[in-house]
Amino acid sequence: MKLTYPKHHFVKTGHISSCQICNSKKLHLILDLGHQSPCVAMLTDEQLDKPEITYPLRMVWCEDCTGVQIDYCVAGKEIYYPDYPYRSGITKELVDYQKQISKSIIKKFKLNSNDLIVDVGSNDGTLLQGFKEEGIKTLGVEPTNIAKIANKSGINTFQAFFGIKTAKKIQEKYGKASLIITTNTFAHMQTLGEFIMGAYNLLKDDGIFISETHYLLDVIAGGQFDTIYHEHLRTYSLKALITLFNQYDFTIVEVERGSRYGGNIRIYVKKGKGKKINPSVAKLLKLEKEFGLGKLETFKLFADRVRNARLKFMDFLMKSRKKGKKIVGNSCPGRCSTLLNYYGVDTELLPYLAEQPTSLKLNMYLPGKHMPVVNNQRLFDDQPDYVVLLAWHYALPIMQQLKKRGLKSNFIIPLPDFKIVKNSKV
Ligand SMILES: [Zn+2]
Repeated sequence: MKLTYPKHHFVKTGHISSCQICNSKKLHLILDLGHQSPCVAMLTDEQLDKPEITYPLRMVWCEDCTGVQIDYCVAGKEIYYPDYPYRSGITKELVDYQKQISKSIIKKFKLNSNDLIVDVGSNDGTLLQGFKEEGIKTLGVEPTNIAKIANKSGINTFQAFFGIKTAKKIQEKYGKASLIITTNTFAHMQTLGEFIMGAYNLLKDDGIFISETHYLLDVIAGGQFDTIYHEHLRTYSLKALITLFNQYDFTIVEVERGSRYGGNIRIYVKKGKGKKINPSVAKLLKLEKEFGLGKLETFKLFADRVRNARLKFMDFLMKSRKKGKKIVGNSCPGRCSTLLNYYGVDTELLPYLAEQPTSLKLNMYLPGKHMPVVNNQRLFDDQPDYVVLLAWHYALPIMQQLKKRGLKSNFIIPLPDFKIVKNSKV
């Protein structure tokens, strides 16, 4: 069992002055989003009467590895507190997507009932469900109480933060894993080195590690500054991921892009060096270079586009309010906290955020700006003039669903560029 990893792969709580991935000092400020609370720190009625803690939220870019990151790290235990209110199983798009992932992975790696697959950051076990249905041995690892929901629904889940110790415990009880997968967590953890070495130790020699996260190129191309929040310590380019795994006995052997979260990157990583590398890796590196992920200018233009979208949004909101129009928000994804807090939208401009009746965020308040999260039945009772789509990366299916249920409002899509969609055009 190996225990060592580079020191900079334990990201200390507080200000970060060198690259979390390659330790370079060449970090450039791209966008200062102000001081904000961690975006999932939804508030209760009681908490509205208490002080609220905020932390700097700045997007910086590393000139050496091209990774984007934030320069302040909030302690993981403060973010992933036991009652963390995010459940993957409630988003229909996500459930369908995850079913698709499990099917394609089983086929690609010819997995069978002798194989153990471990999902790190398994949430309510939605992803593992697909593997379990196909007869594969599954184990989830999840630090929050959502692990209990997963266990209740029959997905065996270990409630812990993943690292070298957790990996050892899992190995002792279940043996080594053929496949370790992590979706939308690899950008989050402070204990990057612990995580990678834990995965290394737990994986069979011919096993495969798969990570899927937001992809920097899509974030920049799509003006998605709202994916920058305290939970996302890092936004990876492929170059940054290669730089990361070069510091370990691991090789990225294949890469894929997908549409999840408004653009994601999935890497396939094998133990050892000198492995055969699929042409997809060189192809995507070339695309990143052509796109300009290695140039500061690209990121300056991105920041200008974000500022422009904000001005247009605020201008429209102010003018419409003056005319007496009613505008409300739909959905409360983590990313909307960054957007609304940076824009400076409060309850006078946007009185509530409507969520699905099953959402764990219902009856709570957005950090910072304190919009209440209400049952989305309210939209149909109120029929406001405009509904802002805060889960704008799923804009089309959401507009179609809401219209089908009888909503007559027009829609505002805030990003990548401010856009109004008339109800009649949906
Ligand atoms: Zn770097």
